[in-house]
Amino acid sequence: MSRFFSKKYETLSPYVPGEQPRDRRYIKLNTNESPFPPSKKAVEKAEEVLGRLNLYSDPDLKFIREALAETYGADPDEVLVVNGSDEALNFAFMAFGDENRPASFPDVTYGFYPVFARLNGIPFREIPLDDAFEITPSDYFRAPGPVVIANPNAQTGIALPFTAIEEIVKQNPGNVVIVDEAYVDFGGESALPLVKKYENLLVVQTFSKSRSLAGARLGFAIGNKALIQDLNTIRCSINPYNVNSVTCALGIGVLSDPEYTKKNAAYVAEVREITKKALRALGFTVTESKSNFILARHPGVDGGFLYRELKNRGILVRHFDTERLSAYNRITIGSREQMQVLLEQIKSIVAGR
Ligand code: PMP
Repeated sequence: MSRFFSKKYETLSPYVPGEQPRDRRYIKLNTNESPFPPSKKAVEKAEEVLGRLNLYSDPDLKFIREALAETYGADPDEVLVVNGSDEALNFAFMAFGDENRPASFPDVTYGFYPVFARLNGIPFREIPLDDAFEITPSDYFRAPGPVVIANPNAQTGIALPFTAIEEIVKQNPGNVVIVDEAYVDFGGESALPLVKKYENLLVVQTFSKSRSLAGARLGFAIGNKALIQDLNTIRCSINPYNVNSVTCALGIGVLSDPEYTKKNAAYVAEVREITKKALRALGFTVTESKSNFILARHPGVDGGFLYRELKNRGILVRHFDTERLSAYNRITIGSREQMQVLLEQIKSIVAGR
């Protein structure tokens, strides 16, 4: 730290992303990316704009907002487009939380939420999941400030039903409820149909998972016009060119090819169920994930040990060294072939204990 670093950031501990190794080729099951390349239609669209990169991107993000609005039956004014959904989440913390309006989110969830809260000087409550790693909706009723729920939840993959989300929104008329649907396309129920009904609901989604664009950085939020206006005030006070032209074109291309996204998400969901079954047969406890990853623990194999053994064997999964998660590994669902190799290696590690 330099002696010039602002006191307000001195104690900040940044989010730690999953490894993106360059030292060797791994079967990479650690950051919930898609095993499929982006849609060809997206790549074609992006190629069309490369020759025009001397011009700034559109600060109104008009075309992609219109495409998203059409896809989701929203008004373009109800859509915010961002540089990865992380950006929408940060904007939402900035816009809707403050020292008198602490944020509430589960103790086991996306690790960026506490980072955004600290970055923006917002106190927060981490509400414990129950013993089955599930969210108790009533814990979030009449919260003291914004509520942030990942649905399906991060790290567990477990989804809340639509009705439970609606109840949380209904029971928080004085707060914004931010529903982070990064993984919804793999089997969750989206809260988007509720946006017209509740002025305090903000739904955040990403192009990084089911839409195969993690490297392009594209996300969006849909909510009441006034909420979106607040978020745009923040966006345009930081960077009105937050989403570059190539990424916008990629996004529009992806939205023009919904069958590809749907087919790939269905494939991942199917492989997820096969993988769950196979791991359970090997003695693992596996969460009932509706996402593109699973959280698994073996009674006889330490979580950290399994992570290291798999890494030695060329497979990367994600291990969180926290009290509630250290016995587990989070495993992204890859291709059938990748999961086959994973299962063979896990079998041999379990047999060797
Ligand atoms: N929300 C959750 C729950 C996530 O797991 C992730 C991915 N790390 C994100 C949001 C951020 O996704 P992105 O910024 O790539 O859109």
